[in-house]
Amino acid sequence: MRGKPSEEKQVEMGAAENGTEEDLGGLTAEELRQGQEAALTLEDMMALSAQTLVRAEVDELYQQVRPLGQGRFGRVLLVTHRQKGTALALKQLPKASTTLRGFLYEFCVGLSLGSHSAIVEAYGIGVESADSYSFLTEPVLHGDLIALIQPKVGLPQPAAQRCVAQLASALEHIHSLGLVYRDLKPENVLVCDPACRRVKLTDFGHTRPRGTLLRLAGPPIPYTAPELCGPPPLPEGLPIQPALDAWALGVLLFCLLTGYFPWDQPLAEADPFYEDFVIWQASGQPRDRPRPWFGLTPVADTLLWGLLDPHPRRRSPVSSVRDYLGQPWRQREGEAEEVPQADEGDEGDLA
Ligand code: ADP
Repeated sequence: MRGKPSEEKQVEMGAAENGTEEDLGGLTAEELRQGQEAALTLEDMMALSAQTLVRAEVDELYQQVRPLGQGRFGRVLLVTHRQKGTALALKQLPKASTTLRGFLYEFCVGLSLGSHSAIVEAYGIGVESADSYSFLTEPVLHGDLIALIQPKVGLPQPAAQRCVAQLASALEHIHSLGLVYRDLKPENVLVCDPACRRVKLTDFGHTRPRGTLLRLAGPPIPYTAPELCGPPPLPEGLPIQPALDAWALGVLLFCLLTGYFPWDQPLAEADPFYEDFVIWQASGQPRDRPRPWFGLTPVADTLLWGLLDPHPRRRSPVSSVRDYLGQPWRQREGEAEEVPQADEGDEGDLA
């Protein structure tokens, strides 16, 4: 069931006044305050949005043009406004699998992000129909990033740098509002043009205020940060931090540069690829460089080691990407500058 479970908690407000960083699960009082403010802003917005939902069937208001995508929780349609003809993306979440609170939460997170060039713009219209909830956003018409990542190759370096720079900027914006995105992966990065010059982040269903206490809900994936895989520092879970997104950005960057995941899960005891990476990080010796990392430059190594530091407090912030732009990240000679066009339904190793 999609939704913000009501049992999700944040570190207690009182702990910020009296507690040590340990009581706060590693957060500073200022970080905790920032997350709590974001949570209050969202609660206010949800209460207001609940009162302004349009009650109608989607077909009465909008003409369906074509499906744009299907996610785990909802489908996204290209529609036009019946009177004005404006093209819009409509995300429809069935009531069978989405609570009103879950819908309002995702809708309001999108709205609270305001306008950013690398974030899909929310239009502030929520619709309640008999069987579903829907909201409208700007349509982005060139698919998602997964279709452009060539297996075992990745993206041409200039496109990879552009994508990562834009995503880092979007994540920085989200973090500045006291939120953690938590779902960075190529499927949530929409492509605005055939040459992949502009990308936009979408799907804010997993975004939460900094300091929300969370546990891993299923098996870890490559993008899951290691601090979420171990025993949590507080009984209720790990207070989430922007460092989770920095880790995911590092993994995504690795995928864009190689066309491989660096590992399946960041557990040294269960995943030999991750174990090799940890050994290499500890020794710093060129002979310990794991095979999937061959072909990256020392500049890319430094950037990725910073984003993929297993210790969240030592991990570089997403903004660190900016210091490495315009430098070579891949050693391969003569790589194509053109972004390959995706075949319809083409899925690579990373899908
Ligand atoms: P879910 O939350 O169910 O995973 P998403 O919001 O990720 O759903 O949307 C599913 C897919 O729909 C995306 O991977 C993308 O391909 C497509 N999509 C989502 N939003 C838009 C949009 N604004 N414009 C174009 N396509 C979109």
